[in-house]
Amino acid sequence: MLPLKDPKLLKQQVFVNGQWHHANVKDMLTVNNPATNSKICDIASAGINETQQAINGAEQALQLWRNTTASYRANILKHWHDLILENIEDLAVILSAEQGKPLEEAQSEIRYGASYLEWFAEEAKRIYGDVIPSKQASQRLLTIKQPIGVVAAITPWNFPNAMITRKVAPALAAGCTIIVKPAETTPLSAFALAELAQRAGLPSGVFSVIIGLDPIAIGKTLTDSPIVTKLSFTGSTKVGKLLIKQCADTVKKVSMELGGNAPFIVFDDADLDAAVQGAMASKFRNAGQTCVCANRFLVHKHVYQEFTDKLVAAAKKLTLGNGAKSGVTLGPLINEAAAQNVHTLVSDAIAKGAKVQLGAKPSNLGASFYPPTILTDISTNMRVFNEEIFGPVAPIIAFESEQQALQLANTTQAGLAAYLYTQNYARIWRFSENLECGIVGINEGIISSEVAPFGGVKQSGNGREGSKYGIDDYTEIKYLCMGGI
Ligand code: ADP
Repeated sequence: MLPLKDPKLLKQQVFVNGQWHHANVKDMLTVNNPATNSKICDIASAGINETQQAINGAEQALQLWRNTTASYRANILKHWHDLILENIEDLAVILSAEQGKPLEEAQSEIRYGASYLEWFAEEAKRIYGDVIPSKQASQRLLTIKQPIGVVAAITPWNFPNAMITRKVAPALAAGCTIIVKPAETTPLSAFALAELAQRAGLPSGVFSVIIGLDPIAIGKTLTDSPIVTKLSFTGSTKVGKLLIKQCADTVKKVSMELGGNAPFIVFDDADLDAAVQGAMASKFRNAGQTCVCANRFLVHKHVYQEFTDKLVAAAKKLTLGNGAKSGVTLGPLINEAAAQNVHTLVSDAIAKGAKVQLGAKPSNLGASFYPPTILTDISTNMRVFNEEIFGPVAPIIAFESEQQALQLANTTQAGLAAYLYTQNYARIWRFSENLECGIVGINEGIISSEVAPFGGVKQSGNGREGSKYGIDDYTEIKYLCMGGI
């Protein structure tokens, strides 16, 4: 059992229409701790029936919720936010146990996740329409923004708390109702959020959490339903493309936060210590399992060796281990398969000529652990250059000119984040404008914030989460043309 002050936060049932459901008790979904490879608990698996119930409940609840005032919705979101922060220690224990990240990092995620509730509680009050000057003296033209309706959200395991609040907060603020299907590996954080939402006074059916052994069937029920008018997805590009296709028949609005392949570019005029600090934060946070993680380090040949030496020295200070133990700064990967996949990518690079500066050997701590790894002499035919690594591996490649750096940076179908270290302000502008991505960190390795728009271009997806733009994905503009004036 997990050491919780409030054991009621550890829910083991799906949450449908304000009720905790013992769905199909014959089929249990097991939640494991990736650090110890032991079972945390079993969850009663839900399926098509429960998903349909959640959809029907969300449709019913929408009639009430969409007609509440913004300040009513804001107060509930704010209360939910406060309850999350009051329970942050328990929520971090649950999150760290099912996902693996160190407790301190889990707490940071929960604060970050809660910040979306506060932000969108405030934004709810600012969903303005327009008055448009008419071409006809007898007409007045207006727009109003209305909730898009019943939303489905499918979320990943790398941020089991924040990837949910990022979608749920703007949806609820706008007056939508929402059904969340979290990742099968990390449902407990989602359930704990639902428990606190209920305590905060969220009406039944406004927010449901559904999970089961067959995510494909649940996903299909959500995407096929004509009641669901919007899908928001965070996850792999492969699944995102499939879900976009599934949404075509019912012409749903979709928001997609898909994979990245972020370049981290260090010029020879950069403050190298700051670059290493940014690299450590960007690369090793969550053991490299974030979609904005630096995936490829492009370093000017004049500072290549010095940057590599400093990064190796910093990475050696990381402590790999069970995230529940104090002093651990790098947890396990989500499971054994993830660690094996990372090692396959590393082995491919080594076979093609990469040199190991640190790590690259499976850890003896357990099958889900992978050590901090730094590779140099990277070339563009290696998988680590072309694919999202999703592990604590830093491949470093040298460049000679700004033009070459830009070409290398943009040689990818992904376009989520990029990082740029230089002191030259003209280059900062030139480069930032020419990078094909949605987010640029300039002399900064941590870029996520609820006040700023998060999202990608190219095959990294569409839509923006957070910021004043984040609510747009959950509203429709209605144009009112008033004549006879
Ligand atoms: P990852 O590789 O990070 O696990 P996935 O894209 O496989 O990313 O998973 C992200 C989310 O998408 C999870 O909640 C997972 O259950 C869900 N998912 C995966 N495949 C499907 C599918 N065919 N239909 C609906 N949801 C899916």
